[in-house]
Amino acid sequence: MDLSSPIEEVKGVGPKTAALLRRVNLCTVGDLIYCLPRIYENYQTTTNIEDLHPGKVIIRGKISDLHVVRTSRKRLTITQGVIRDNTGAVRTVWFNQPYRAKQFDEKREYYFTGKYELKNGRYQLTSPSATLVQDVESTASSGFQPIYSAKSAIKPQMFHKLIDGLRPQFAKIPDLLPLTKGKPDFVKQGSRAEALYNSHFPESPADAESAREYLAYEELFELILAAKLNKQENQRLKSIPLPFQAEFTQCLVKYLPFRLTGAQRRATWEILQDLERPLPMNRLLQGDVGSGKTIVAALAAAQATLHNYQTALLAPTAILATQHFEDLSRLFRNLERALGPNAPWRLPRIALLTGATSNKRQLKAAVKNGEVDFVIGTHALLTDDTNFYSLALCIIDEQHRFGVGQRQKLLLKSPENTAPHLLSMTATPIPRSLQLTVFGDLDVSMLNELPPGRQPIVTKILSEISQREELYPKMRELLKKNQQIYWICQVIEEKNASTATPVKIQAKKLQEIFPKVKIGILHGKMKPEEKDKIMNDFVENKIQLLVSTTVVEVGVNVPNANMIIIQDSENYGLAQLHQLRGRVGRGDQPASCFLLTTGEGKPSKRLREMEKSTDGFHLAEVDLKIRGPGEIYGSMQHGELNLQIASLNDTALISQAGLHAAQFIKDAEKLAAYPELARRIKRYQQITTLN
Ligand code: ADP
Ligand code: MG
Repeated sequence: MDLSSPIEEVKGVGPKTAALLRRVNLCTVGDLIYCLPRIYENYQTTTNIEDLHPGKVIIRGKISDLHVVRTSRKRLTITQGVIRDNTGAVRTVWFNQPYRAKQFDEKREYYFTGKYELKNGRYQLTSPSATLVQDVESTASSGFQPIYSAKSAIKPQMFHKLIDGLRPQFAKIPDLLPLTKGKPDFVKQGSRAEALYNSHFPESPADAESAREYLAYEELFELILAAKLNKQENQRLKSIPLPFQAEFTQCLVKYLPFRLTGAQRRATWEILQDLERPLPMNRLLQGDVGSGKTIVAALAAAQATLHNYQTALLAPTAILATQHFEDLSRLFRNLERALGPNAPWRLPRIALLTGATSNKRQLKAAVKNGEVDFVIGTHALLTDDTNFYSLALCIIDEQHRFGVGQRQKLLLKSPENTAPHLLSMTATPIPRSLQLTVFGDLDVSMLNELPPGRQPIVTKILSEISQREELYPKMRELLKKNQQIYWICQVIEEKNASTATPVKIQAKKLQEIFPKVKIGILHGKMKPEEKDKIMNDFVENKIQLLVSTTVVEVGVNVPNANMIIIQDSENYGLAQLHQLRGRVGRGDQPASCFLLTTGEGKPSKRLREMEKSTDGFHLAEVDLKIRGPGEIYGSMQHGELNLQIASLNDTALISQAGLHAAQFIKDAEKLAAYPELARRIKRYQQITTLN
């Protein structure tokens, strides 16, 4: 038997077990060994019932008096029981797990792990998990036991036994990484075999932690190396150098309708320098909502036009593309006027291409013949029949809304044998830790400064049930000043989902309260033209109160809208809430954001963070900690981003692995000597590519 032997060869695996294991992709001995514990339960630390304090506890005892209670309300079943040890007794409760009543042998001892808390005036152990004491003793002599993910499909005790039988196989596990040199001191395990062995059979928490560190380090090293290789490969491509012309850019900047912020100047400078080089730029422009990313992109596009090359700007929605088109048309028109007819430079001829564009064919011909310098559009830009004359710069707004495949499509439209410069823009910042790991040395420009005069947005959590009435006078006051309001509700896409109130009902309700106010509705099921019409009416203040789903989330700019109310706010991620809030406070008036909640308990950490902070970078870090990268960047990276072992909080490991990978990559030939590593890295490269 070796690591690649099929699981059927493992002692104790019959056809039935094998089928179950194969169903969750555990097919070989190696697969079983690499299936690592999710957490560890430390049964050395049980608490006597007489000493219990609220919080997570482990009790060793017997259970009796089990019975199931059914409540008519919400069809809930409650299973109750009493756990006893030598020092006392405690009530225990499970919700909707009626099988619990039959699960236990009242004569045997179990470890019960759960939350000890005060509920309805009584202390109880809520929804504990239970393990036979005897089972723990037979597999983990130390009483420190690995817990495998529920996904492993077979009973935990069975899993322990299988792994236990594989002990002799561990010696055959080769090292993956060139870890002898460069490995940081605090990674204590000597080899991969040792680390894997200790993570399955730890003698102590310290053992398990240092095993985890070894494996986490390995994972981070691979991820960072993959990102660095991506960058290296990107640098082998050629692109069209677009030399910087100081006089031109200075002149444009002088005639802008406002003074650039320091951050905008820095970012523009970084981008224009990248454009000069014959290697493709791959830069991410991160800037909070309203930080002024568009103008930076416009200056880059102007630089391309100066050299008679084309620029494409891809936006996720027609509304946003149209707004960019209108803003930029106005900007370039005014600049042209300021420069005067005798200026030695020309500015971009600009066009809009969305699904709704009427003269598509004509427009595409103009793009193909080079009669347009700067095309702004939606997915319509990506079709096969959209061809460019000389595309040298691609700008992707709200880049996280596009998948790898979509971005690739655009990038392939540059002249043969060249790659366009790529500027990705996002208001959902990628936290530093993630930049380093997943995106390697991605070049990042930050707009960490808002244009002057912006009013802070006051954010407040309100209970929809008890505090909704408080909102109306505030809304009335604002409407009286002829300002505008967004009301965001959650709409159910599937028929039988959640209790959120749909847009129409909400609009009707509000119309009754504000009979004279013009209310518009906007949701994803509307046709693009209908949406655009409503949005335009809102921009022009023909609609004062816009009741909408999150389709307004991205980019649009209505400076006269100064209040946003978000219903069912607990159902949104932080990044999305922050984006929504960014719809207001774009003018010179004070703005406010109300987060309505329907829950009865304390508002979630997410919402409280929203109340405390308007800093998108801070919120992104918090979001990452709460939800993990796969959730946030999932759509972009096929959800494969979640680290298996390492955590983005492993900052010391991350920076060490980064240094180590940088050293290793200097001699890329080395990778050939580590075929298993090379294979794994290839996979990582595919999921982390940003171009
Ligand atoms: P975002 O980064 O969210 O895409 P925009 O580029 O849409 O931000 O800019 C938001 C608003 O701020 C626009 O109306 C824009 O004209 C304005 N703006 C941008 N830069 C400045 C500046 N330096 N000073 C004043 N206003 C600015
Ligand atoms: Mg924008």
